Amino acid sequence: MSPSTSPSKEISAIKGTKDILPREVRVWQKVEAQAKALFELYGYRELRAPVLESTELFEKGTGETTDIVTKEMYTFSDKGGRSITLRPEYTPSVARAIIEHRLYLQSDPLRFYFIGPMFRYDKPQKGRYRQFHQVDIEVFGEKDPAIDAEIVEMADTLLRNLGVRHAETLVNSVGCRACRPAYSKDLRAHAQSVRDLLCPDCQRKITTNPLRIFDCKIESCREQAALFPKITAYLCQECRDHFAKFCSTLDLYEIPYKVEPNLVRGLDYYTKTTFEIVSAGLGAQNSLLGGGRYDDMMKDFGGPDLPAIGFAMGMERLISVLKVEPEASRFLYIATLGEEAKAKGIEFARLFRRQGVESLIEFGDRSLKNQMSRANKLGAAWTLIVGEDEIRKGLFQLKDMASGTQNEGTVDNLLKIVREKAQDSK
Ligand code: AMP
Repeated sequence: MSPSTSPSKEISAIKGTKDILPREVRVWQKVEAQAKALFELYGYRELRAPVLESTELFEKGTGETTDIVTKEMYTFSDKGGRSITLRPEYTPSVARAIIEHRLYLQSDPLRFYFIGPMFRYDKPQKGRYRQFHQVDIEVFGEKDPAIDAEIVEMADTLLRNLGVRHAETLVNSVGCRACRPAYSKDLRAHAQSVRDLLCPDCQRKITTNPLRIFDCKIESCREQAALFPKITAYLCQECRDHFAKFCSTLDLYEIPYKVEPNLVRGLDYYTKTTFEIVSAGLGAQNSLLGGGRYDDMMKDFGGPDLPAIGFAMGMERLISVLKVEPEASRFLYIATLGEEAKAKGIEFARLFRRQGVESLIEFGDRSLKNQMSRANKLGAAWTLIVGEDEIRKGLFQLKDMASGTQNEGTVDNLLKIVREKAQDSK
């Protein structure tokens, strides 16, 4: 045995990743189920893409000058010498899948959702992980600003349904390929004039992509970025009209929002609309979800000219602001005494489970008293007692753990009682 596999050394989860243990998973499942049901109501369907993609997909899609691509990707060569990346975000995968499967030739709306892990090699801190989970929404083929407002409304509804309070919606427009170059030029000139006040990374961004200075997390750079020219003054007529209609549709939905001219978001592909929902309860990493429009991505990938919009919400951050109590399950504990009873218990567990009753039978040899106290401790709704005498008589005891009442009957009778009570409690 090599020293690294010595049995005394405890192996922990990789920095920036974490286990989600069963009690917490219950909350995740509840949130995921609510999110999926809501998205389906709006006509979205799930699209599951692989975790592994070619590195080129993100270089091209996410953008070569973004922090994600330059600093944060988990990239490696596989055994075939290909450059592979663990997806840092989902949008490029969806665009790839649409083109690869020619989904745009089908009549189904190109509206997709997905919930799953993303990977970014960033500095871990509260609300920022290296493996985190996103709820992702993508719409392709809709250029009307009404869809921009509809997905904000959908996000808002989800957060309201989940009981999230104190969330604020920020909106902006980052222009398009027609109007952004003039803005970038002025931004570059302005950033150049305060070059010495920026970090080395932002100094590099002055040349590569000055817009990305807005993403810097260093306080002194953020102070400077707040004084930069605002994109709003540079928007072309088309972008201005789009933004005005987006905002007026949000008004129609009665969604309060704030125009935030510095909201350019960390990805290169955004055009026109960008938005973010922030929550004061989150601390420094206050963004619950962010999204925007990416009208050029499809054609840049060599696909059809389809406009697109979407958002991604961080599950960890969402869960951290929720006060969702996991629902306790109502289950049956089967207590057995002796080998013959154990075999019967196994048979009963199968019968109850087939009828939709969650049933737990533990196989270690324990006294009846011990098993009853286990059932209590685990929060069983009922305990079914199976002993040799009961088998001989064909009559078993069912104890209701909350009231302490006990019923004697055939297993079929007891199953009926359990099913009725389980139904009543729903
Ligand atoms: P982005 O894909 O960067 O636009 O982020 C969208 C959302 O994903 C954010 O609003 C966060 O809620 C979440 N998120 C992004 N990066 C991380 C991370 N490293 N750890 C946890 N959540 C994240």
